Amino acid sequence: MTTGAHGGMLEAALQQLDAVAERIKLDPGIHKRLRQPQRALIVSVPTAMDDGRLEVFTGYRVQHDLTMGPTKGGIRYHPDVNLEEVTALAMLMTWKCALMALPYGGAKGGVCCDSTQMSRAELERMTRRYTSEIISIIGPDRDIPAPDMYTNEQVMAWMMDTYSMQRGITAPGVVTGKPLLLGGSLGRREATGRGVYYVLKVAAKECGMPFKGAKVAVQGFGNVGSVAARLLHEDDCCVVAVSNHRGGIYNPRGLDIATLLAEHPHGEAISHYRDGDRITNQELLELDCDILIPAAVEGQITEKNADRIRARIVAEGANGPTTPEADRILAGKKVTVIPDILANAGGVTVSYFEWVQDIQQYFWHEHEINERLSEIMTAAFQRVLALARKEQVDLRTAALMLGVSRVAEAKKLRGLYP
Ligand code: NAD
Repeated sequence: MTTGAHGGMLEAALQQLDAVAERIKLDPGIHKRLRQPQRALIVSVPTAMDDGRLEVFTGYRVQHDLTMGPTKGGIRYHPDVNLEEVTALAMLMTWKCALMALPYGGAKGGVCCDSTQMSRAELERMTRRYTSEIISIIGPDRDIPAPDMYTNEQVMAWMMDTYSMQRGITAPGVVTGKPLLLGGSLGRREATGRGVYYVLKVAAKECGMPFKGAKVAVQGFGNVGSVAARLLHEDDCCVVAVSNHRGGIYNPRGLDIATLLAEHPHGEAISHYRDGDRITNQELLELDCDILIPAAVEGQITEKNADRIRARIVAEGANGPTTPEADRILAGKKVTVIPDILANAGGVTVSYFEWVQDIQQYFWHEHEINERLSEIMTAAFQRVLALARKEQVDLRTAALMLGVSRVAEAKKLRGLYP
């Protein structure tokens, strides 16, 4: 999904849905239903702080669509979390799951808090109370949360424990992105970056671009960006630049990503790396390269810099890194943009594998997980490309057309209750 120029994420999501509805001649009744989330819960989360104060945080869980199965989506801890943003992200998850043909609808949740200023004990108490407050609408067959910005495996472990203790059972399938020991999946941690790598491989081939030696710039050297950079480097692409929120490093002959990762395993202080020149994030986006991977935050490619983007392929590792205005400029320049709902769908796909393994209580080898992920990502890319070519539209429009049509078709089959 692209973001509105002024951060109106929900407005942008609705505009996208409206445009696609027109293009696919969506039934007006179904269109109305899809414009609204099926359920939205706002909860207050009273939390005892370490200094004896009581703080009351606001938490959300939005389930956009429950037509094809339980809902799925991350939990975000961030001061900007609000109902509109969570709703937009839940809608995005619906299209993403439908596009990947996963048996889920979309959801999203979060707590408005600055988790970077909270102790581990405060985070645990807040997470447990938040989980209790939303417990009536989550569950392995209802809604399955996962980590998102500023939540991690430990937060998922506390959520799983709180749910399990209240139900009097052990329920690993209630969340994904858990620690391995509690029913997490091999390959989950690197699944999103790996998915970006798989779609890029097939996209380069389709664009007639030699993959070996392709020059790649990666914005954001966190979970998604660092894994994508490592796999591309291992496959002989030339990763010329990477960055974090402080800035980046550039070497036109290629960075040694393996050494970089060995020296800075968490992506911090990468600008101290000796074998490259320091650049800003803006400079990184505008570098002379074949492939650009924005894998940091939303709203990075805008009408202000889109004209100066020189990459031939942009793969959106992050959610919403491109504004609608920038999208139009890039389309005019014939830049291939692989949209977020496709490019970063590896994460939810392996989350699906984790949930299946938890339900079956039978765990797969890592190579099986990676092979199945590769198959699903490649097939999804091919479906999107075929529709884009047939309808003469960009990949984002084609991906949304596929996602929305699938949900609409399922709604039509189920009919309207009562
Ligand atoms: P992360 O926290 O591991 O890494 C984020 C990286 O971006 C860090 O290197 C950080 O320093 C950098 N960054 C932060 N603000 C920046 C800024 N203003 N400019 C440049 N760099 C900045 O996060 P992640 O899990 O890698 O997620 C990155 C993006 O991918 C997010 O948009 C997230 O929603 C999306 N995403 C992640 C997953 C997943 O499985 N992790 C799945 C789908 C989508």
